[in-house]
Amino acid sequence: MDNRQIADRLEAFATLLELVEANPYTARAYRRAAETIRGAGLPVAELARSGRARQLRGIGPGIEARLRELVETGEIAELAELERELAPDLVGLGRYLGLGAKRSVELARALDVRTADEFREAAAAGRLRTVPGIGPKIEARLLEALAREGQPRPRQGLLLGRAWELVGGVAAALDGQAAGDVRRWRDSCELLAVVCAAVDPGPVLERFAALPQIVAVIERAERRAVGVTVDGVPVELVAAEPERFGTVLVRATGSPDYVEALEPLPDAADEEAVYRALGLQWCPPELREQPFRGEPPALVEPDDIRGDLHCHTTWSDGRASVEEMGRAARERGYDYLAICDHTPAVGAVRGLTSGDVRRQAEEIAAANEVLAPFRVLRGIECDILPDGRLDLPDEVLAELEWVQASVHGGQRMPRAEMTKRVVEALRNPHVSCLSHPTGRYIGRRPENALDLERAFEVALEEGVAVEVNGLPDRLDLSGAHVREALEAGLEIVCSTDAHSVRGLGNMALSVATARRGGATAAQVVNTRPLDAILG
Ligand SMILES: [Zn+2]
Ligand SMILES: [Zn+2]
Repeated sequence: MDNRQIADRLEAFATLLELVEANPYTARAYRRAAETIRGAGLPVAELARSGRARQLRGIGPGIEARLRELVETGEIAELAELERELAPDLVGLGRYLGLGAKRSVELARALDVRTADEFREAAAAGRLRTVPGIGPKIEARLLEALAREGQPRPRQGLLLGRAWELVGGVAAALDGQAAGDVRRWRDSCELLAVVCAAVDPGPVLERFAALPQIVAVIERAERRAVGVTVDGVPVELVAAEPERFGTVLVRATGSPDYVEALEPLPDAADEEAVYRALGLQWCPPELREQPFRGEPPALVEPDDIRGDLHCHTTWSDGRASVEEMGRAARERGYDYLAICDHTPAVGAVRGLTSGDVRRQAEEIAAANEVLAPFRVLRGIECDILPDGRLDLPDEVLAELEWVQASVHGGQRMPRAEMTKRVVEALRNPHVSCLSHPTGRYIGRRPENALDLERAFEVALEEGVAVEVNGLPDRLDLSGAHVREALEAGLEIVCSTDAHSVRGLGNMALSVATARRGGATAAQVVNTRPLDAILG
């Protein structure tokens, strides 16, 4: 069993524990353990077998015992029991249809059905309305949802990180290619698709249906299937004839508008050949949002990135030390990493005072002794106070090598006030970069009422860069705003805002978001060598 398989099983266990409303702390603990295992550099099966699993963060005796059972027997007995009892395929189907997990299970019990297929039969036979609490209206809604044709969508878009984990996992297991919204790196993903090449589609469709991530198959045709996860999220699989793989992949990747503008597509085995036959250059998926037939710019690549300029440590709300973060950044092949912990005004978590900033300098110097020639930079994520002043005195900011300025509290300010606040901060000569400029949380909080155009104007005057924050629920600036910033003449910084070693991996999301905005390497500050950052 590899780490991913182990993590998937623990994740499934966590989901079922939530369904039975077991102690939510336990479910969370399993979810966290799954995340740790997914990111672990060592084979966890071996650790578990030799009784060393507790060396991993967040793995206590309870989870250790389950892990051991899993690697020794291939199963967790309690999980298998829960699966029998709860029928995750029915839960997945029910959630996809818009029912809660508990309601799905109740309905299945009342209908005495055990599988998604039996559920469909019962619905088709008109038995839904025999269930207490299901009136004609709900029945009609469920029947309509069951019969829904075309491209299925989740009830709520998935954050990009989660969507990649799901679709990337399915694609890897089937030797296929992730497509749909994920391949375009949309910040909220609805169309989740995988394309495989297969002469005979039968076996790959079977393997898809048997994946641990897929609890039920809701549609199946000769070369296409739609499965749902236990959370009711639909994933589409297309098994293309090898000689048409490129064509099918182009169709499954681009937005409907983009694809339509290219039609009719010639049949070809790979994408390059499709574009060649159309007389076009291959187009990076990030640019396949709007109709586009031009010559794509040379977009920034993940390998162009030479350092990360925004991350946290245990000095504020991060989980790793300065040296651990530096070492992990060095292992990624970077030349530098700026430590940007919070300042006191952030409120909810610990923030650094002037004294702390100077004490941290000693720890950074010590880390640099060990990690040289890699360089840990003295940075800060300094709160912008409601009146536009910064949360640390100028003479302290002047000592630092990189200053991120951030709005955290008081984000509901009216437009004029918010704009004045940010503009004031941008005028401070020590500020290097404006963090998460719009303050949005995808699906949870809209953008601040900031006049972005005005902020960009002032940032340009003052030589301040703007951030493309790579946290999956921020992705701020968004691709569209990156485009506006670049048009205004600004430079951007691709950052992760990592709060852990693993968080540094979100650089991929930041870079892809910058690419969606058309950014080239020359427009991204942290593609430059260290002396350019310090100069
Ligand atoms: Zn922040
Ligand atoms: Zn931060």
